[in-house]
Amino acid sequence: MTELQAPKNKLEKHAINVHKFGGSSLANAQCIERVLEIIRQNCQLNDIVVVSANGKTTDYLFSLLNLAEDGDFTESIAELQAQQSTLISEILNEKNAKQLTQLLLKDIVQLTQWLSSDFIHHRNDILAFGELWSARLLSALLNEKICPSNAIDARDFLVIDNEQSCTVDHALSSAQLKTHLQFGKLAVITGYISQDTRGITCTLGRNGSDYSATIMASLVGAFNVTLWTDVDGIYSADPRVVPNARKLHRLPNGVAKELGRLGNPVLHAKTLTPLVNESLSHHCHLHVASSFDPQVQGTEIGKFGHIAKQELSVTYLNDLLLAQSASFIGDKAAQVLKEFSPICADIQQGFVVINQSQQKALSQWLA
Ligand code: ADP
Ligand code: ASP
Ligand code: MG
Repeated sequence: MTELQAPKNKLEKHAINVHKFGGSSLANAQCIERVLEIIRQNCQLNDIVVVSANGKTTDYLFSLLNLAEDGDFTESIAELQAQQSTLISEILNEKNAKQLTQLLLKDIVQLTQWLSSDFIHHRNDILAFGELWSARLLSALLNEKICPSNAIDARDFLVIDNEQSCTVDHALSSAQLKTHLQFGKLAVITGYISQDTRGITCTLGRNGSDYSATIMASLVGAFNVTLWTDVDGIYSADPRVVPNARKLHRLPNGVAKELGRLGNPVLHAKTLTPLVNESLSHHCHLHVASSFDPQVQGTEIGKFGHIAKQELSVTYLNDLLLAQSASFIGDKAAQVLKEFSPICADIQQGFVVINQSQQKALSQWLA
């Protein structure tokens, strides 16, 4: 067993970091080996690892739910089982693989039963299997190769009000989480899932594991959250669709939230909520980095000084203009808001963002 890296200083030893690995980072044996190396190089035992379902498992579970409506899902279940047990036997030693395969079998029996009889009632329990399997597998592998670890089902401690607003019962969840964290063991926690106040399984919505990661950070008072994914940061547009999209290296919370509002999928507005909570005693920063290229500097989101704020002007929309004037401050701002309906405005600092086509009209208005 190789050991996790020793902390560089005493302070660092106590600072908790959350590392979240998305489905794309856990898609196959090779990806999982990469994740293992990232954990070995970046984690302390008191950190928290949050995982999504491996690869497209959640999509697969959704398709099973659709099939259940029409009746025949036998072949698809067999395929899912084969996929998961191949992954298990590819990466674990024989003894551990046997143990996990037995647990998987039990789950498959349960899944089949729910799909055959009551899939509407158990929809979320069915969707939860992806994250459950993923956490179990990574934790077993860590135990085998890197450090002591325990897998935690977030439904055992994370309580939200309902799936619509997904507001966390912070005090209860935090107290319950403490009872599951084991000293000297790296916790691997399921993303995406939680329970409501009645104890019924809830999901946090598609891509919800990112939100899970920031929730965990707020529950344990972490200083950093890293979302390890398959792109090396947040870009001005989806880099797979827009090849010349620009990487955004540092984003102040406010701007990041605004990007989320404008439709950036990596920055869903909910993901940032636990980190911008004024009651947090410190600033927790969010990093987006690539598990395929961990050395590349990704994007950092957080509370920065004034200079960092000024260098930012990119959003998900094109051809925008950031303008600053004393005429955009306070009472005088009402007129510019009415006249130009800016995409966003900061009337304390005197900034507005408008479409480039409005530039001439705005200059005339200012003149
Ligand atoms: P994960 O499996 O790690 O949760 P996701 O697939 O949910 O990853 O999100 C990462 C994907 O988001 C990238 O592969 C990329 O194609 C897409 N994406 C869309 N918009 C952006 C953007 N503005 N910047 C970076 N990635 C983006
Ligand atoms: N597995 C869930 C999904 O595919 C959650 C996540 O990946 O964040 O949406
Ligand atoms: Mg995602």
